[in-house]
Amino acid sequence: MTGLTVGVLALQGGFSEHMDLLRKAADHLSSAEIASKTAFALLEVRTEEQLARCDALIIPGGESTTISFVAAQSGLLEPLRDFVKIRKRPTWGTCAGLILLSDEANATKKGGQELIGGLGVRVHRNHFGRQIESFESGLALPFLEQEASFPGVFIRAPVVEEILSTHDSRPPVEVLAKLPGRVDKMKPGMSQANTKDDSGDIIAVRQGNVLGTSFHPELTKDARIHVWWLQQILGQN
Ligand code: GLN
Repeated sequence: MTGLTVGVLALQGGFSEHMDLLRKAADHLSSAEIASKTAFALLEVRTEEQLARCDALIIPGGESTTISFVAAQSGLLEPLRDFVKIRKRPTWGTCAGLILLSDEANATKKGGQELIGGLGVRVHRNHFGRQIESFESGLALPFLEQEASFPGVFIRAPVVEEILSTHDSRPPVEVLAKLPGRVDKMKPGMSQANTKDDSGDIIAVRQGNVLGTSFHPELTKDARIHVWWLQQILGQN
């Protein structure tokens, strides 16, 4: 029996919801043949020591400025950058987590904000507007290879407005999902980058070990993306 420790960054935001879905996903996989030989340990991460024990990490939705502020105060920013970019451990960010894992972010607070980086993309924060403009949309997520749509919860969500051309050794950025049909809802003053491409806003990307989604699977009861992500990790080990 081998062991895999999966952490959830627990500084602010929806970390306990991710823990619940990870537990559900790990139980599901442990009963299935593919992972019956793997024991999953789940860990809330608040310190460098806890991060050092993790094989993989989720950064939840919440408020990216708060998460990066607390991470900086706790001396976690550099260890997180090391985890994602040097040690290249599997890391998944949802919503605020996607912002933190992006190399660049637009519409940041005055003075900018510290990012972890790792995804060669620029995100546009709060792309769909304010909290009151939150919405839910059934998403087609081709990577799940299932017919049934996924309940996409968008709360002050970012989108990937540009894939940056980087000249480093990273693998290319893969676009895993788009949200069609909302481009015309953009407000004046918002980035026009997406209007060039009417196939929709980019809401899920992967680059090597780093996965980012604009929406919040942790605010649903649907563990399919958590199951898929754990399976990807198992496949790499
Ligand atoms: N807009 C938020 C931010 O900048 C993210 C919102 C969320 O995670 N629901 O952090």
